[in-house]
Amino acid sequence: MEIVILVLGGTAEGRAVAQALADRGMLAMLSLAGRTSQPLTAGPVRSGGFGGIEGLATYLRTEGVTSVVDATHPFAESMSHNAAQACAQVGVPLVRLTRPGWSEHPLANSWLWVEDHAQAAAAASELIGPVLLSVGRQHTLDYVPHLEDRHVVARVAERPSGMLPSRWVLLFSRGPFPLTGERELFSQHAISVLVTKDSGGELTEAKLRAADERNAHVVMIRRPGMPEGLTQVSNVEDALARVV
Ligand code: NAP
Repeated sequence: MEIVILVLGGTAEGRAVAQALADRGMLAMLSLAGRTSQPLTAGPVRSGGFGGIEGLATYLRTEGVTSVVDATHPFAESMSHNAAQACAQVGVPLVRLTRPGWSEHPLANSWLWVEDHAQAAAAASELIGPVLLSVGRQHTLDYVPHLEDRHVVARVAERPSGMLPSRWVLLFSRGPFPLTGERELFSQHAISVLVTKDSGGELTEAKLRAADERNAHVVMIRRPGMPEGLTQVSNVEDALARVV
């Protein structure tokens, strides 16, 4: 039987898995949500939602998918939930690849951990000084009611869909973000509050060090929970070992 692997991506890990499978001559399809206008990809790509659990289950059946690697971002909660349900329904093995979070980071105890964006916005509004928002395009707008009168630098890959306060600085940028650049950014805007998610990994970690060097407060949003009973791995090699 031909092996067809579906890689749910939108992350560097998803690209790396798809690339590694292509390099091994395996039939792999990288799936993206279709939110980014010029996505970074590797090998064959499909784009756009499947239409919930049923849509994904139908896709798995019609495409003859033999295994799924869920390499979506740790905060892509709905997609991971749908993948777990659809794979169980169709009987296709699923492996969840998530990069390690920052809860064990040496600086983790100095951060203010919150459960969601609403709590993060409320917490940031209580802290004094310029804010660096690094929460993704979709959630940047959630912070407007709490921080509209503040000096905010919002770093996003693409323009958020709604209006932002005119005094906010919008920075279009995609990681990785090296330490030198992060230091400059913190210094240029005198950042004293960083709001971010526990995305984990090394590509976007330097901001945490830059914040520490400036004694800036860090408001860290915890990762959402994962569906129970998942096979989980934390690096590309282990994901490949499961599916190849
Ligand atoms: P989400 O809330 O979990 O997903 C919402 C819906 O988008 C899903 O139900 C699914 O639609 C569709 N979708 C998501 N990922 C998909 C994929 N890889 N392939 C096909 N459809 C997908 O996800 P999100 O937080 O909006 O993130 C969207 C994408 O951006 C994800 O692929 C994720 O890996 C990437 N990303 C997210 C973040 C973040 O912080 N959330 C950061 C960096 C990258 P249907 O129900 O119609 O199938």
